[in-house]
Amino acid sequence: MAPLPYPVLHATHGGTWIDLAGVDLMGGVRAIGRAAAIAAAADTPVILLNAPVVGARIGHPDLSGLDVLELFAFIHPARFMVPTAAGLARTLGLAPPASDGETAPFLRMAVDALLARLDDPHWTEREGAWSSAQTLGRLGWPWAPIVGPRIRRPERAERWLFSRLPEWEEAATRPPPAAVRIPAPDAIARLEQLVGSGAEVRAGQRDYAAALAPLFAPRDREGRPRALLAEAGTGIGKTLGYLAPASLWAERAAGSVWVSTYTKALQRQLDAETARIFRDPAARREKVVIRKGREKSLRLLNLEDALQGGFQGRAAILAQLVARWAAYSRDGDMVGGDLPGWLVSLFRRNGSTALTDRRGECVYAGCPHYRKCFIERSVRAAEGADIVIANHALVLLLADRRRSEGRSIGHVVFDEGHHLHDAADSTFRVALTGQEAIELRRWLLGPEGKSRGRRRGLSARLADVVSYDDAAALALEAVGHAAQALPGDGWLRRIADGDPFGPVELLLSAVRDTVFARAKSVEAGYGLETDAAELDGALIGAAGPAAEAIEALVRPMLRLRQRLEAVQEEMPDWIDAPALARIEGAISGLNLRTRTLTAWTELLLRLGAPPAPDFVDWLAVDRVDAREFDVGIRRHWLDPGKPLAETVLRPAQSVVITSATLKRGGDWDHAEAQTGLAHLDDPPLHFEAQSPFDYAARSRVLVVTDLKRGDLGQLATAYARLIEAAEGGALGLFSAIGRLKAVHARIADHLARAGLPLYAQHVDPMDTGTLIDIFRDDLHASLLGTDALRDGVDVPGRSLRLVVMEGLPWPRPTVLHAARRAVGGGSAYDDQVVRARLAQAFGRLIRRADDSGDFVLLSSAVPSRLLDAFPAGVPIERVTLARAVEIVASRLSSSDAIGHQAGTMTTPGMA
Ligand code: SF4
Repeated sequence: MAPLPYPVLHATHGGTWIDLAGVDLMGGVRAIGRAAAIAAAADTPVILLNAPVVGARIGHPDLSGLDVLELFAFIHPARFMVPTAAGLARTLGLAPPASDGETAPFLRMAVDALLARLDDPHWTEREGAWSSAQTLGRLGWPWAPIVGPRIRRPERAERWLFSRLPEWEEAATRPPPAAVRIPAPDAIARLEQLVGSGAEVRAGQRDYAAALAPLFAPRDREGRPRALLAEAGTGIGKTLGYLAPASLWAERAAGSVWVSTYTKALQRQLDAETARIFRDPAARREKVVIRKGREKSLRLLNLEDALQGGFQGRAAILAQLVARWAAYSRDGDMVGGDLPGWLVSLFRRNGSTALTDRRGECVYAGCPHYRKCFIERSVRAAEGADIVIANHALVLLLADRRRSEGRSIGHVVFDEGHHLHDAADSTFRVALTGQEAIELRRWLLGPEGKSRGRRRGLSARLADVVSYDDAAALALEAVGHAAQALPGDGWLRRIADGDPFGPVELLLSAVRDTVFARAKSVEAGYGLETDAAELDGALIGAAGPAAEAIEALVRPMLRLRQRLEAVQEEMPDWIDAPALARIEGAISGLNLRTRTLTAWTELLLRLGAPPAPDFVDWLAVDRVDAREFDVGIRRHWLDPGKPLAETVLRPAQSVVITSATLKRGGDWDHAEAQTGLAHLDDPPLHFEAQSPFDYAARSRVLVVTDLKRGDLGQLATAYARLIEAAEGGALGLFSAIGRLKAVHARIADHLARAGLPLYAQHVDPMDTGTLIDIFRDDLHASLLGTDALRDGVDVPGRSLRLVVMEGLPWPRPTVLHAARRAVGGGSAYDDQVVRARLAQAFGRLIRRADDSGDFVLLSSAVPSRLLDAFPAGVPIERVTLARAVEIVASRLSSSDAIGHQAGTMTTPGMA
């Protein structure tokens, strides 16, 4: 096959290369400047790998072309691939390029290999490709003229996505679980079976499973769940430790155990571990369900709309690629599932959020795709599953909803339990902000201006119902009228211009004025906030009319809900199943939203009064890079453990809260307070097992004492020297995005020229999961990031051998922090937070028994009292930067595991 007549462009922080084979007579690869690269891309389509990343490297963010990743997503939808040259090489069975200079010709080879698959009789994702290529051609997808003619036209018309997806089956409601107990020896026997005959169950894991077994039994008294706090050091094997008794109970009682996690990585790990319980894949699919929130799953109705003209330009191309994926996806998860995280980044996130259900717009049985809907399938599957895996946010939300319906989540294991406090904090908060208010207005009235596809307001969703019922029609009309008081499109510009419209915009305008008058930015260019106390007359004066307007909206919403409930009971003869389902959906949406509106009114009515003891209220202007995106009043619980205990813990039969760092450098009292268990009537049981890892022999903590505080140049130099000494494999943690970006800008080019790619959250146009995949895959890559990396990176092996923290991770001095600090013991509270964060960050380093590495803290003033955050026995040295560099390099020279040769890259990717 002749090479495609297009140049291939490759760019890293270290340089830019173009391959002109088949394009001009000179052919070959050559290094070019950034300006020449931009000019080349303007003249003719270029082949490249990840256009946004290459565009960022050459300083042309809007760069587009023949992106190899888009071609891959078309040919192999729902297939995992690390989006680098090395990742592509591995997936295609090719030899990876040995240097940056060889990457451009390699990409040409990879394109040929991909195109050859279109002709391969064993191409498993052929169905639907021909039709999709035709549509993509009409949409102007640059690959379509190349791909289209290479796909054989099918003999019969291809079924389109919505007829290909399987339907879920309606099942009878599951009876309540049987009352059974799990004896500890049975749990241990199950654990031994799961671990397998070739491996040994360690004592800590055995004790852990035995300690959990008694939890899986009916509680003795209502409102008094069996509760256990279990701290199990990394390496104990706690996932199998709890899956053993949990799966046994589920099997014997015919009930479900919920396992709640904080990170997607743990969800994936759990999903894989359950293969030991259910060896038959079909049985496993039935017995283990990962439940995602509606806002994370593909909504077929929105996709259909996007495919039928609802999306334009690049968003329409994304919709076609998403449709290709949906036909092969295991569960339709758009976030953290089998849709590559990098796919939506290629489209600058354009359109992806409109493919999910972010506003509870589901019309249930009224939807033509109801029986094939991924979301509905997972809801039903969870009802009959043994193990339901979900994240903390969703479990808290569902528990809260079930409680209002008089049900509960019976048995629940919260893994990564040290995040439960934060999850409860955000679940039970109240935010009366412009963005929240306009979302509510759109749910009620539909989008303004040009209608966006299937998105309809409540009136349109209930049109057929109210045409038969006058009382409902009147209430709905009143809702529509009252909702006009909520902010509409352009609210942010209007209040910034001092020209607010309506009572709620007037309130937001007064909030913004107060914030700008009083607040200091915690980090330059980012959010501003101030205490909701000692407020001036203008703001208090605006609160009254806003509260009245909100109450005036709640009243007809309640009337409408009551009327709909009455219709549900009366079952008039005009009602059919779709109408009934729409009524059900509307009632549940109205319930949720009247609760929100009532919380807003309570918040407003307290403005100017002494603060409510259980809450912290403040005013905020949210900004990114000095650009405002939201304004409003926020309320958080001073102790989110209180609503957590009432809505989630108390209604449960049993609760296990487990983590490697539950006590977070504190004690059990602290752990009970953080997890809400302190608010239950009975104290929880405690269990503790030390990590089997030899931290003292395999890791060190180096406190670098000779850097001048606040000197960005010195900070950047320190990062660069340490990363060079370790030859990559470094995770750099920052407390402020601004400093992260400044350090990255100073060192990325230099490191790239040394063959050490540097990636960064908030800089590279990729999602965090993809950045971690690339980091994990490349022994010489390093990754810079903020909180999410400190808590959620699980990279066992040599890929992560150095953690560098820019300083002590003190809490940000926010209004909420000040309030919690005041009741939490002042500086002792801050110390707890820092210890917990240090322990979390250190925990990234040693993930397996044979891991080793260094933890470097760039801070001249680290109080000794905080050093007990690290595992006992780990050597801690206060050293100069030069000495730290020597020590890090010496660990490398004592290990030949990396096999690095200066100036070459094993995984050049698109650094
Ligand atoms: S059933 Fe609901 S969530 Fe599913 S596609 Fe239809 S409207 Fe969307």
